Amino acid sequence: MPTWIGQAVRNGIVTTRYPEVPASESEIPPTGRPPVPTQGPNSLRAGVSLCPVGAISERAVDQGKCIRCARCLPGGFEFLGPVEAAVLTRSALAAEESPGALSRPIPPLAPLSRSLHVFLVDAGSCNACNLEVLALTNPLYDSQRLGIFFTNSPRHADVLLVVGVPTDEMVEPLRRAYDALPAPKAVVAVGVCAISGGAFAGIEGLHDSLDQLLPVDVYVPGCPPAPVNVLDGLLRATGRGRRT
Ligand code: SF4
Ligand code: SF4
Repeated sequence: MPTWIGQAVRNGIVTTRYPEVPASESEIPPTGRPPVPTQGPNSLRAGVSLCPVGAISERAVDQGKCIRCARCLPGGFEFLGPVEAAVLTRSALAAEESPGALSRPIPPLAPLSRSLHVFLVDAGSCNACNLEVLALTNPLYDSQRLGIFFTNSPRHADVLLVVGVPTDEMVEPLRRAYDALPAPKAVVAVGVCAISGGAFAGIEGLHDSLDQLLPVDVYVPGCPPAPVNVLDGLLRATGRGRRT
């Protein structure tokens, strides 16, 4: 018997059952959940001076800025937020409620609920978001079982998935890629670099948020988001996923 068949028999099925069942702890690193204040206003007040990127105010944590550095944990925060943290509006990431519990506008790709083709653009990432997104194609996450495929041409895609903080040089390629997608289409911003600039916000030559350049439909917070977080964001675009 070839070795790989023997391995398959020994290992059984390793593919995650997410989103049919909740993600297991082994599929979510501690920083795969947003930080939440465990002592309410006291934690928020303590966190303001601890956070290096200004994600914490006295009212809420802006998940669209949080780089998951853990410096706020001594001030009374824990990574206990929902795995399903992708949202359809930027303001929802900075709201006082938990991101996953917020109101739900109509998903942009509701007509394409069964199959999605995704065109990935790295607009200026550190490569970590890139790797987490591409992990969706490995046997553990196997995005194809959910009808999610990656394509090398924007003309064949339904989703423009962008990682990284957009550089000046990427503005025109991003616009051309967006224009090449046939309708209906959606833009999914993955990682805080694409959402707010993350740790690189304010640097010359960079555009702090993708939604200054393109209409973003789904925001997936994290630095980097885990593959399950990205899967949640893609399913969110179609109205599928654990929350629906
Ligand atoms: S984990 Fe880091 S970036 Fe996020 S809120 Fe806490 S201190 Fe700020
Ligand atoms: S969001 Fe974090 S992991 Fe993703 S590209 Fe930016 S710095 Fe890297």
